[in-house]
Amino acid sequence: MFYKQFSTIIDLLNPEFVENFDYWLATLPRNNQKNITASVVSSRLGVKYSLAESILKFAEKQNILERYYLVKCPDCNYNLDTITKDEIADILVNPVFCDECEEDKKITLNDIYTAYKVIQQADVSEEEIARAIEKRLNQGEGSGANFIKADSLSNDITTLYEAFYNPDESAYAKFAELRDKLDLDYGKDTTAKGRALEVLTLEIFNQIKYVTGTNDVKTKTNQFDCTFLCGVNTPYLSIFNYLAPCFIIECKNEKKKPDNNYTNKLESIMDTSSAQFGMVFGRKDATSPCFAISREHYLIKKETIKQQIVVTCYDKDLEYIIDKRVNLLHYLEYKIFQITNNSPDSTYEMFCAG
Ligand SMILES: [Zn+2]
Repeated sequence: MFYKQFSTIIDLLNPEFVENFDYWLATLPRNNQKNITASVVSSRLGVKYSLAESILKFAEKQNILERYYLVKCPDCNYNLDTITKDEIADILVNPVFCDECEEDKKITLNDIYTAYKVIQQADVSEEEIARAIEKRLNQGEGSGANFIKADSLSNDITTLYEAFYNPDESAYAKFAELRDKLDLDYGKDTTAKGRALEVLTLEIFNQIKYVTGTNDVKTKTNQFDCTFLCGVNTPYLSIFNYLAPCFIIECKNEKKKPDNNYTNKLESIMDTSSAQFGMVFGRKDATSPCFAISREHYLIKKETIKQQIVVTCYDKDLEYIIDKRVNLLHYLEYKIFQITNNSPDSTYEMFCAG
């Protein structure tokens, strides 16, 4: 083994493949030590895509490789930019200028590819590299295309969600601080008590990039607790299909369980707005008719252009969001799944592989 790190996984994955990968990676000429993709590894070493993916992720964890994202022009395939995960959200929302086409391009997940570069060199002599190159030339291993559809983010919803929701330590500290304020003694000031939960909800949901929330929206007939605008949507199924163009959260910082009056009210508000997603946020689990009502409304609207889904959340959900630090977008996908699949008893853990 050139990289001793691989000896720890040799028995977990296919040993022959691990050895081949180790040799291949260690003897890559310097100018080929970037733009490494799972499809390249899969085709060069003749293994399944998923196996190639797992060894690349392992090498990343071991600081042998570094992951980055390559943005390509949707029309001319020109390399527009090399970005980090933190920059993905911006690229998807703001057009990028292509020097080749000389115009602004709208970037989708199909145009962003996951790639790796070598950041830790193996201890190999020049001779060994030369020999490896010669061997590869004899095998007719040409340049070929490094990037195929499978390497693009359209296959990688997890990275998309992490790119749009990734609170830092100070954000989590703020969540916890605001949660502590929910149970302060507000005396008879029910407005202040109610507002405490609104403030926490806004703080959490405003951590989603390109989502902006306020608790000041009044329509001619209603005042909403928290209204959010979502400037992102995706052409394939993702949580953003429900969050765009806006969504509403009603907050109930009360001792009693939220009942069907709340869900009914929210459903009727949504009937006359563009919101497709609503949430009743209480402190205790909502009464069971709430789920039944939400399910009924979902079924009525299912075949229409505008979906309508209301979920309920309470303290236990805050534990997942604040203490277990689950990805909020992935978590919302689970909450919606409960309604669309009529499975109120399914748990979030069922959705977490590994
Ligand atoms: Zn172009």
